[in-house]
Amino acid sequence: MSKNGYPTNDPELRSWIESANNPAGDFPIQNLPMGVFSKTGSEDPPRVCVAIGDQALDLSECWSAGLFAGTPVESENVFETSALNEFLAMGHSAWSSVRQRVSTLLRHDTPTLRDDAELRATALNPIADITLHMPVRIGDYTDFYASIHHATNVGSMFRPDNPLLPNYKRLPVGYHGRASSVIVSGEPVRRPHGQLRPDESAEPVFGPSRLLDYEFEMGFFTGPGNEIGERISMDEAMSRIFGMVIVNDWSARDVQKWEYQPLGPFNAKNFATSISPWVVSLDALSPFMEAPKPRGPEDPPVLDYLKPVGESAIAIRLETLIQSKQMRERGMDPMILSRGDFRDMYWTIDQMLTHHTSTGCNMRPGDMLASGTVSGAAEDSRGCMLELTWRGSRPIRLPTGEERKFLEDGDVVVMRAYCERDGAARIGFGECRGEIVPAK
Ligand code: CA
Repeated sequence: MSKNGYPTNDPELRSWIESANNPAGDFPIQNLPMGVFSKTGSEDPPRVCVAIGDQALDLSECWSAGLFAGTPVESENVFETSALNEFLAMGHSAWSSVRQRVSTLLRHDTPTLRDDAELRATALNPIADITLHMPVRIGDYTDFYASIHHATNVGSMFRPDNPLLPNYKRLPVGYHGRASSVIVSGEPVRRPHGQLRPDESAEPVFGPSRLLDYEFEMGFFTGPGNEIGERISMDEAMSRIFGMVIVNDWSARDVQKWEYQPLGPFNAKNFATSISPWVVSLDALSPFMEAPKPRGPEDPPVLDYLKPVGESAIAIRLETLIQSKQMRERGMDPMILSRGDFRDMYWTIDQMLTHHTSTGCNMRPGDMLASGTVSGAAEDSRGCMLELTWRGSRPIRLPTGEERKFLEDGDVVVMRAYCERDGAARIGFGECRGEIVPAK
């Protein structure tokens, strides 16, 4: 049993799918992340699936075989569709029932699917043979700025005397992002054009961004939201969140620098945001939740509506890697750029959701909220190149001898995230990957 009492998190659980029992794997039976897939090369419409080891379990086929009888999804096949939104709208008790049922079906001692060769052949597909699509139809996307280390580093580059603005420790700062350009891992990212002013004294010019960057963030999807005019409280917030993905908030720093005042990010961020294809549920992450770190004695008190109410800091380890075109041509593996931990965030996901709805702003199933760049106190835990190279003043040397201040065409950025703790099964997010292709 895990500390929250869900038997689906029991580290002793084993699956009859052997690849799921690898202790170093991302997708053990305790994870069961959901995605949307089609068989590569087939004309079949996309469907909802769950990752288990190196296989994807087609939940629509399972539904058709009657395997969800007695659960809240029994009356309608919400998995025969190209996005998780309908399922997200059903709420936490439905999510947990489905998770419990899938866990039972995949346990080593449950014969239903294990011993039904015909059903197994239609319901299981090797992940290597499928194409993963956007898991959710994202209605609205909001990006926060919740790492105090990131905010302090970036602030000190632009305002050395006053890196943190007075509101920072009072509320989770965010901006409304662009949902239409959120793309799934693997899709290429075209270098954007923009209006730039490389020299402060010169006239602005229009052309391809020269200072292209990534930002390692974690994002989460809301389920049943709130009506306009209603609020979500801290007590309710965690149960309204279905699960999380890795987010790469690609950023054109030169565009950003010229455009951001007074209304914040706009074209510098709207050309592409990549997400990992598997949505890891908060139920799967529960063994890795802990109380937020106490604020320092010099920090102002948190106003009541944002006061922590439980374990909503999540220990997720993050890694960013880079592989240049030359590295690929020479058969070199991606090189690690940084390692961070999501538990280092100043604001937690329930505080982000609560603050966002505190005006009565309505959330809908499938809205995405992202954390902002995850950076820690250590230099090697900084979650973007702007910080790692300190605005390009300390270039990174690749194993080919190439140098990077920002991203070049042909660079592939790979982000990975996973949770590990004694007494719990390892939970992985898979990866979020994108290649920079030249401006057009
Ligand atoms: Ca961001």
